[in-house]
Amino acid sequence: MQVFLDVIVDLSHSETDKIFEYSYPENDIENGCRVLVPFGKKEIEGFVINVKNTSEYSPEKIKPVIKILDKVPALTKETLALAKFIKERYHVTFAQSLRLFLPAEMRKGRVKEKTAKFVSVINGIDKEDCLSKIKDSAVRQKEALFYLFENNEVSLAVLSEKFGASAVKGLEKKGFIQILDKEILRSPYVSVSGETLKINLTSAQQNAVKSISETEKTVSLIHGVTGSGKTEIYLSLIEKVINLGKTAIMLVPEISLTPQMLKKLRGRFKDDAAIIHSGLSAGERYDEWMRLRLKKAKIAIGARSAIFAPLENLGLIVIDEEHDSSYDSESSPRYSTLEVAKERARLSTAKIVLGSATPSIESFLKANNGEYNLVTLKERINKRSLPDIEVVDMKKEIRKGNSSPFSSALKYELENCLKNGNQAILFLNQRGYSRNVICSECGHVQKCTSCDVSLTYHREDESLLCHYCGAKFKMIKACTECGSPYLRYGGIGTEKIVLELKRLYPEAKILRMDRDSTQTKEGHFKILKEFSEKKADILVGTQMIAKGHDFPSVTLVGILDADMSLHFSDFRSGERTFELITQVAGRSGRAEEIGKVVLQTYSPEHPVLQRAIKYDYEGFYEQEISIRKATGFPPFTDIIRILITAREDEKALLTTKNVYEEFSEYHRVNLNKFKFLGCMKAPLKKLQEKFRYQILMRVDKNDEETRKKVFALADKYTEKTVLVSVEINPNNLS
Ligand code: ADP
Ligand code: ZN
Ligand code: ZN
Repeated sequence: MQVFLDVIVDLSHSETDKIFEYSYPENDIENGCRVLVPFGKKEIEGFVINVKNTSEYSPEKIKPVIKILDKVPALTKETLALAKFIKERYHVTFAQSLRLFLPAEMRKGRVKEKTAKFVSVINGIDKEDCLSKIKDSAVRQKEALFYLFENNEVSLAVLSEKFGASAVKGLEKKGFIQILDKEILRSPYVSVSGETLKINLTSAQQNAVKSISETEKTVSLIHGVTGSGKTEIYLSLIEKVINLGKTAIMLVPEISLTPQMLKKLRGRFKDDAAIIHSGLSAGERYDEWMRLRLKKAKIAIGARSAIFAPLENLGLIVIDEEHDSSYDSESSPRYSTLEVAKERARLSTAKIVLGSATPSIESFLKANNGEYNLVTLKERINKRSLPDIEVVDMKKEIRKGNSSPFSSALKYELENCLKNGNQAILFLNQRGYSRNVICSECGHVQKCTSCDVSLTYHREDESLLCHYCGAKFKMIKACTECGSPYLRYGGIGTEKIVLELKRLYPEAKILRMDRDSTQTKEGHFKILKEFSEKKADILVGTQMIAKGHDFPSVTLVGILDADMSLHFSDFRSGERTFELITQVAGRSGRAEEIGKVVLQTYSPEHPVLQRAIKYDYEGFYEQEISIRKATGFPPFTDIIRILITAREDEKALLTTKNVYEEFSEYHRVNLNKFKFLGCMKAPLKKLQEKFRYQILMRVDKNDEETRKKVFALADKYTEKTVLVSVEINPNNLS
């Protein structure tokens, strides 16, 4: 029987963001399937979101679908519902939201299954009979046949290698065997084998598992110090869910943390674990996704995009290091992973487990309010102590005449560490050689030609790089303003740290991990593997190395500049700094040997630092939450930014004025909802050739009406030459 289909075409334009109807001659088509449809003069892909028996249009107006693209619908009932939620909540087109749920390469049919040739004995053939028909001299044919009878199906490559290609040919000629094409899976991180170490949970871990399994609340927050064994708790919870026949999602904040987690998951769940992340090859991504979709794997692991995994019957979502800002997508489509997780959990009555040594202020507030189930782990495994943090006042170092990036205390500890054959991690959140290049004579700072941003000097390839737009320029020999050859380097980066270390400790083997050194496939993994195999003594890195990693031989952590995030004019700078110090410090002394941390700062008295070095999260939280409450900042309000960008400065300014004026009307009659409203140039005045202005506000939490109003204004004033976009609680207000 013919059916009618509501189809969302795979175009991200807002003009095409509506339902188009098509017909299909049979009723064997399901919701969530992708189809190829005629659209204007083109053929494009679309998603079936509804199958129905009747249509309001007259039948001759409805075109038939050209073909179905999926054997199994790409979207399930649940992911389809989730896509609808995302579309509404974040004001994106349906197509943009749907795209989140499948590997990009699947669209436009860019990846196919990979096949290989496999050999098997032809059905019903008798072993003895065959063997009698092979000449005694053809030993290898006989052996190959034996092998095949034993192993059913063997890849042609393997069989030929074992017994020689001519033996296989011989068997084929005799009609004993068949060679068939078969789909094979490309699997990522083949070298990550499972860790099968059997661990008995400590009583604190057991209590945590019990509390989370028994709570009526959807969300549990594990607040556990670094090294308190949160991972084992996750694994036990996942195991319980799998034993119930359900599935689970395990999220980590960084791609670089997936191999470590994968090792644990493979150890316990073998092939039930599949990875979803952007660092895989297209084919791997497709195959891993398919394994989940076809229920061949039951656990999806990855960074934030794994929240869109094609799993059915979901029982658990774990968000490790839940405070991490990488869980918020900052580019379109913008979304909060936790919000999406909550909706997903609601749709499939799953539970959510958040874990962190430094929960976000918002999550901890909810735990204190009783909205979340709070589980606290106060001690490290085996009562190991948290590393002592020594604060070094860098102003004093300079007064003593030491202008190097390493204080004498750090050098002393580093030498000790190396002498004892231990490993050290040095943390600096600045990649490149120097943050900027300044002319010593006229003071000119080299800037990006497209952005209002100073350029970072990368010595490795003698380039000046814009860290905002990625533009690359050749390093200059002289000032571009006055021609002076005297250039100064301002602000130190990881490249320079490595060079300095090599000079100081020529014997030591040093690795660097930052965005530049991890560009290759599985690049993170290679560096981390080398370090964990103790093939290096010192690891220098950016925030990539700050969290999650478990290196037992690391006994020293150096935080080279603890102030970097402290003086941002962002209300979260205290929170970020506290997190970062706690997380980086947490990499030290995780095994038998006691760890040590040296923290270098220019403001040793700062209350945030003072609390961080005592690991006083509760004290920090109390202080922070009272400030937020008094000043009306999140989590007590939402921050909304309307960002206006255009190539022409005047156009951007004019639009900003218009939006602001129209919005002011709404503001006037809704004063009670607002804590603040302001209109100004964005801190980053120009980015990628576009001038930027912003309208900032703090409004009641989850005020749908204001959100709708803001989204409507953005739509109304967006044109070809000017973009008006909306950010809700952005992590970055530059
Ligand atoms: P966290 O995630 O809380 O920072 P991890 O889960 O990485 O901590 O655990 C820290 C270390 O303790 C790891 O090396 C882990 O293998 C080990 N560990 C965890 N639970 C136990 C246990 N019950 N017995 C022994 N060792 C454990
Ligand atoms: Zn100059
Ligand atoms: Zn730039």
